[in-house]
Amino acid sequence: MQGLYAIEGNLAFAPALGELTTIPRGYIIVEDGIVRDVCKRLPSGLSPEVISYGDAIITPSFCDLHLHAPQFPMLGTGMDLQLLEWLSTYTFPLEARFVDTAYAQRVYRKLARALVRRGTTRVCMFSSIHREATLVLMRELERAGITGYVGKVNMDRNGPKDVLESTEQSVEETRRFLDECGQYAHLKPLLTPRFVPSCTDALMQQLGDIAREYPDVRIQSHLSENMEEIAWVKELSPDCAQYWQVYEKFGLFKPHTLMAHCVYSDEAERAAMKRAGVWVVHCPDSNTNVASGIAPIRKMLQEGMQVAMGSDIAGGAKLSMTDVAAEAIRVSKLRWLFSDKKEDFLTVAEAFYLITTAGQAYFGAQPGFGEGEPLHAVVFDDSRFVHEPKKSLQERLERLIYLSNPSDIIAVYSEGKKAAL
Ligand SMILES: [Zn+2]
Repeated sequence: MQGLYAIEGNLAFAPALGELTTIPRGYIIVEDGIVRDVCKRLPSGLSPEVISYGDAIITPSFCDLHLHAPQFPMLGTGMDLQLLEWLSTYTFPLEARFVDTAYAQRVYRKLARALVRRGTTRVCMFSSIHREATLVLMRELERAGITGYVGKVNMDRNGPKDVLESTEQSVEETRRFLDECGQYAHLKPLLTPRFVPSCTDALMQQLGDIAREYPDVRIQSHLSENMEEIAWVKELSPDCAQYWQVYEKFGLFKPHTLMAHCVYSDEAERAAMKRAGVWVVHCPDSNTNVASGIAPIRKMLQEGMQVAMGSDIAGGAKLSMTDVAAEAIRVSKLRWLFSDKKEDFLTVAEAFYLITTAGQAYFGAQPGFGEGEPLHAVVFDDSRFVHEPKKSLQERLERLIYLSNPSDIIAVYSEGKKAAL
């Protein structure tokens, strides 16, 4: 929507970890898609068009910093297996299908719509090895109003033939992908070595070269998700004492690198991530489903690490980041119990921070509805719940985190525009 307008409703956002700000019946003033002010009442002398959402709750829209687009069709299946078996039985055969760009378009159109309907407008996403399908994915996301980063996956070992590339092919296709993806206004490329077992040293070396050549292109991968995986990496890279050192050796462990999971990252690995400016992406639903473990997220936050959250579909079965936030709280409570109550659990405000403010920071956006930045917001109508006795805005937000579903979302704004639901 162009011009000057104000959105009215109950505003809630997390200015910092563990803090929650609420503004009952407040206003977000927007001009040409850019947030001009967030206020309790309209400033005198200003008479914008007011879009009132009444008693609805408006929060920043959600950030999902780790998910696998081609796994969308297998959502909620294959959950009796652990990571490595799950990959070979379910994931790789499905990802192979994305050589067919028509199939990719059908799946990715549905995925993009499903994300918007759940209030997610910023993502960091894995595609498959296929360059063309990856470009289709970017096109479909852009069309739906999703912004962020997408990576063509690199894999040249340890998989069935139809999801592997030769090393040369993988490098060449990555370079072509980087050349061809500049046409999207709000989606950028990521380098995406799947994980160490999938990439030979020669491939990692050349991806490191590309990373040096394109210093603005960020990197995403997986780290220390599962015990068997960690043991396998030790066998494959005996010269590295720890998993993270393989990425570091090839110049892929740097500021803004995203490492999903980090369930078993010990003190040394965590310190290395912090030193390097690497981000942890916590994927609690996935870590439980494929029986990987519970990441020490509370500890990581206390140590000042950069942590954001991911759905990791289809290891994760839930695409809604509110569901992922609730899951993060639940597993952190189990960790608290199993640590003899030594490791604190996550609070609702902290989990809400992780799916909004923390992710926003990765994209260079301020907390809340950043003034001077394009509006990203989601509007929840929670009138189907019982409001008596009267609930505070904090309690209503908590209830949305635990109980909301896409039908509660009545509007989503992304990059200053209202998205079609
Ligand atoms: Zn993943």
